[in-house]
Amino acid sequence: MMEYEEALRNILKNTSPLPAEKISVEDCIGRILREDIYSTVEMPPFEKAAMDGYAVYAQDVKNAPTNLRCIGLIQAGDMFKKKLNRAECVKIMTGAPLPAGAESVVMVEDTSRRGDSILVSKTVKKGENVCFKGEDLKRNQRVLIKGTALSPAHVAVLAAVGRRFVRVAGKPQVAILNTGGEIVPAGFKLGKNRIYNSNGPMLQALLKSDNIEPFFLGIAKDNIRELRSAIEGGLKNDVLLVSGGVSMGDYDLVPEVLASLGVRKIFHKVNVKPGKPLFLGIKDKTLVFGVPGNPVSNFLSYLIFIRPALYKMLGYLYCKPEFKEGVIERKFDTKTGRKHFVLAKITKKESQYLLMPMASHGSADIIALSKADGFMIVEKGCSTLKKNAKIKFITWKTI
Ligand code: AMP
Ligand code: MG
Repeated sequence: MMEYEEALRNILKNTSPLPAEKISVEDCIGRILREDIYSTVEMPPFEKAAMDGYAVYAQDVKNAPTNLRCIGLIQAGDMFKKKLNRAECVKIMTGAPLPAGAESVVMVEDTSRRGDSILVSKTVKKGENVCFKGEDLKRNQRVLIKGTALSPAHVAVLAAVGRRFVRVAGKPQVAILNTGGEIVPAGFKLGKNRIYNSNGPMLQALLKSDNIEPFFLGIAKDNIRELRSAIEGGLKNDVLLVSGGVSMGDYDLVPEVLASLGVRKIFHKVNVKPGKPLFLGIKDKTLVFGVPGNPVSNFLSYLIFIRPALYKMLGYLYCKPEFKEGVIERKFDTKTGRKHFVLAKITKKESQYLLMPMASHGSADIIALSKADGFMIVEKGCSTLKKNAKIKFITWKTI
């Protein structure tokens, strides 16, 4: 059976960034930039006022308080046609170009006005409250690097250099199929021996949290015919997630159906708990994950196996899961022998993470999952962890 690290290597080896696409700047949040962006403009493009106030010669207000004669007003977007002479000032609004000759701006708060006479109560240095031409950005300067995960501030940069469109990594089309004769969608009557479909909505929510619009294929019963037709449709996507039906039960038919449809198995089973029956296969450009049906296994599989593949397709430069380190707050014993992911409450004390393993009824316990902050990881072969021992963990929260 494959160890976790080898399984992850195999997943990433069989995944590549999708071809880039051109999209509008307003829609690029969360996408990965596939080009370097160079500025076509200078910022600011002219010398401008950083404050509302009066444009002056610095020398003229050196001995403030002092009086200057106001000869006009410039608003943002306008130009003052005359040159400023000594002992004169011009009222100026933030963002307006400085009149010829002016060196500084006195804040309006530091002045009082009577007619055209302005009493300046405070001195200003040369260049004070002025933004200089090109001080933020030079023409042809690289402003964003290929591989950047685009945020709202990056949108501002793109817009400021006049871009309407931008090249980003493509988004994978991901389909989800739930399997199991016992699984019923919410909104339907729950018959005897049935349970509601929690994995379907959860996987859709996880995909949405990664900025991917999922395609839900519904629920297939555990028979070859239904599985085959649903999976066949799902193979048209970049990624197909088939949840349930990959374990050792008599009705765990997914691997068999995948094989009959020409999906090449890359691995089946990973030495982890929970989530051991994970299946990975590939057909043409479609990556297929068979995800163990227990909800906590489903969730963990997304974090440590599926998300890294999606991140690679989305063009992230770093797509592996982030494992941090903390200390365990109590002694912990495990008998699994596998790499064991244990739900934990996580707190932070003086920049150290503290992990408290949670009581849980096992990998179907979604209530425990909903209260947990992450999984702590007991390495393979480790049976006892002493209190305060170092331990790795993965979290989906900001702690
Ligand atoms: P399986 O992987 O199909 O053997 O399922 C393992 C366990 O997870 C069984 O107890 C299933 O009833 C449960 N299960 C499978 N699929 C779902 C689902 N979509 N929502 C909730 N529980 C599920
Ligand atoms: Mg099942």
